[in-house]
Amino acid sequence: MVTVPSNQARARHRDIDYDAVPGHLTAIEPGDAGYARVRSTYLRGGSPGLVLRPGTPAEVADALAFARAQPVKLGIRSGGHGISGRSTNHGGIVIDVSRLDAIEVLDERTRRVRVGPGARWSEVAAALAPYGWALTSGDYGGVGVGGLATAGGIGWLVREHGLTIDHLRAAELILADGTHVRADDGEHAELFWGLRGAGANFGVVTAFEFEVDEVGDVGFAQFVVDATDTAGFLHRWGAAVEAAPREVTSSLIIGGPRPGQPLLAHIMTVVDAADPDTVISRLRPIAATAPLLDQSIQIVPYAALMNAPHGPHNGHGEPVTRSALADHLTPELAVDVARLIESGESYFFQIRSAGGAVGDVARDATAYAGRSANFSLSAFGAARTRLDRIWDDMRPHFSGIYINFETDQRSERLHEAYPEPTLDRLRALKGRYDPDNVFRDNFPIAP
Ligand SMILES: Cc1cc2nc3c(=O)[nH]c(=O)nc-3n(C[C@H](O)[C@H](O)[C@H](O)COP(=O)(O)OP(=O)(O)OC[C@H]3O[C@@H](n4cnc5c(N)ncnc54)[C@H](O)[C@@H]3O)c2cc1C
Repeated sequence: MVTVPSNQARARHRDIDYDAVPGHLTAIEPGDAGYARVRSTYLRGGSPGLVLRPGTPAEVADALAFARAQPVKLGIRSGGHGISGRSTNHGGIVIDVSRLDAIEVLDERTRRVRVGPGARWSEVAAALAPYGWALTSGDYGGVGVGGLATAGGIGWLVREHGLTIDHLRAAELILADGTHVRADDGEHAELFWGLRGAGANFGVVTAFEFEVDEVGDVGFAQFVVDATDTAGFLHRWGAAVEAAPREVTSSLIIGGPRPGQPLLAHIMTVVDAADPDTVISRLRPIAATAPLLDQSIQIVPYAALMNAPHGPHNGHGEPVTRSALADHLTPELAVDVARLIESGESYFFQIRSAGGAVGDVARDATAYAGRSANFSLSAFGAARTRLDRIWDDMRPHFSGIYINFETDQRSERLHEAYPEPTLDRLRALKGRYDPDNVFRDNFPIAP
């Protein structure tokens, strides 16, 4: 769609009926003060024709009814950290629910907490800390609740406490037809199943109810290692992680190769223990996986780990990523990853541990199906076709996809994220709850 400037200051989109925007909605359009703060997301540049910022579920329904009547793209935004999720666009509408950010303890005895989709994980961690609680989420506190808690949630406590969606007990959402429903194991149970892994397809979640865990201070280690023996290191690190008790969750980042310098890997590990001797003993096997060049080990509150600043986003362009779940870091997979890194086609490569408690949940219990995987791999690259070529060749090593790190839009990705019979079940659910495919900004499932 083409954006038609009607004067110097405004660039209204001709297919949006601006006069019909309900007057009680907060609406920001090109040329408005504040547009620069809402147009882009963390990783994407955008120029939407209109950003609606509802402050209540009823306003979300009104915003959705308006948006549905406009023949333009629609993005749903909570924290704006989407990678797969296109929560901005060019010339379309964004429904931004960041004002729905309340965090409330519902029941101290059962540790039941209600969280708005617009809250950030840093805010959730800070709100739970005074109770001695935490909810496993991701590794970066700036990420929003809405996009992560509808897809999975692989975080610092994943091996011990599973995915974020495994703690979800109920969700409230506005469906495509504007109705406000509550989904849990009793009401709309099939929808509740689909929300946990493919949630972006069925509505706009306006509140989540989670059961959280007791978590005190944790050990947090950062190691810089010489990863010149890349394949050997990856295999050893993978084996050390799988052999570690569940209170250990580790991830690693490798940047692109730099001529004349050894390849470095940055390993970050959380040990859910406050006793320094326990922390050190749990870290030793991980530190032994490659020559250690630098290290820092702290005992910190979980909320300190998640503390992250967040302000307006200023992303540019489109991220190019590939991702996969792997059951094990086999020697063969490690060799192929080493080849990818040597090629220079990925400037940021990351492996997170999954596994542990994730595998305690049955594969068909949620739409997230990657229960056998011990690892989640993701690569950011500069060139789509070159990254795709290398990553496609690695597919035999993989057991699935966690959609939240994936930007390849070819249809095979949907099948890898939701292998049958999961995809069939999701299609039926989509046909029932969103037959017109209103929610299609994030791995849409054809009804
Ligand atoms: C720096 C960074 C670190 C990350 N680390 C982790 C990590 O450790 N673990 C992990 O699991 N993931 C991680 N992610 C991925 C993250 O989970 C996803 O990108 C997630 O979608 C971000 O959520 P958001 O609300 O901030 O994003 P948004 O951009 O606001 O939303 C992304 C998509 O989610 C859907 N969505 C958003 N809000 C709603 C809602 N209220 N109802 C229904 N659907 C909605 C929409 O399809 C939207 O396009 C990371 C991402 C980044 C950028």
